Amino acid sequence: MKFYGNTRVLEQTAEMVRKGREPHSLIIHGEKGLGKKTLAKYIAAQLMCEEHTGTPCGHCRACTLIERGAHPDLIFVQANEKGNYFVDDIREQVIADAAVAPNEGDIKIYVIPDFDLSVQTSVQVQNILLKLIEEPPDHTALILTARSRETFLTTIISRCVSLSVAPVTMQESGEYLQNTYPDRDYSEIAEALEAGKGNIGRCRSYMEKEQFYYSADLARQLGKAYVTGKEYEMLKALAAAEGKKPLLRESLYLFSELVRDACVHLAGGEAVGCDSAISDSISGRLTLSSGAQLYDTITKSVRMIDANCSLSLVCNSLCAQLF
Ligand SMILES: [Zn+2]
Repeated sequence: MKFYGNTRVLEQTAEMVRKGREPHSLIIHGEKGLGKKTLAKYIAAQLMCEEHTGTPCGHCRACTLIERGAHPDLIFVQANEKGNYFVDDIREQVIADAAVAPNEGDIKIYVIPDFDLSVQTSVQVQNILLKLIEEPPDHTALILTARSRETFLTTIISRCVSLSVAPVTMQESGEYLQNTYPDRDYSEIAEALEAGKGNIGRCRSYMEKEQFYYSADLARQLGKAYVTGKEYEMLKALAAAEGKKPLLRESLYLFSELVRDACVHLAGGEAVGCDSAISDSISGRLTLSSGAQLYDTITKSVRMIDANCSLSLVCNSLCAQLF
């Protein structure tokens, strides 16, 4: 069992296990693709491993079951198809279940992933979880994940151990790709590495030609259209995402990252976006202040999508503002 990078975070929880001060409530936060669910699984193994060294041994019964996704006491709570958790489900799957002793070892772990996507019921659900967090039975631990820690009520944040997941180095993500895809061409790996940078989830999604592959492609087209000043090209590129909300949202987000990188390039710093060459050309058209304005305009479009505005309205108003 390996979690790439983030050694400081892994050491923090390992130290707690070694000292016998296992945390009962944790928040894992960080951008999509950085491995929040994988980290939750790793921490579960730290807490459940029969060797109790803080580093999952990888061969005891608990580690093996976790690795196979078959440990009966590691419960990943399921949201509905829109990402919402419902009060009744949390009561049944977490609160009521927490009263029952573990099946295997001495601890039961509940993971509630992507909590930030549960927009409709967030506050009610957190208020229900608060009781469990305030007075957890000895045999339970709760791990919440979200892109931002601000998703949670301050009463929850103050009672949880917060762990922030960061991107890994290019070398670490390269190592991950080579280990995971030993039969692929190096050129293919290099392309995924450039697109995903230190975000392993993105690199993997690119290799698998999942949504990120297409979003990165669209973001590059938007960047090129902006650099050449061709509004028609931008509208044409955006039209390809017509009716595909998640694709459009991610593409615009990646486009905003290219602009952020362009500003970073002007100020001198490291790129995180999906195409360093394009962000360098964007920087040729910007000053730091016009760059900041452009970044705001694009992120505003992303927020409009999140607020359920019509996608064609978002695209048209973006183009109107950019040209
Ligand atoms: Zn073990």
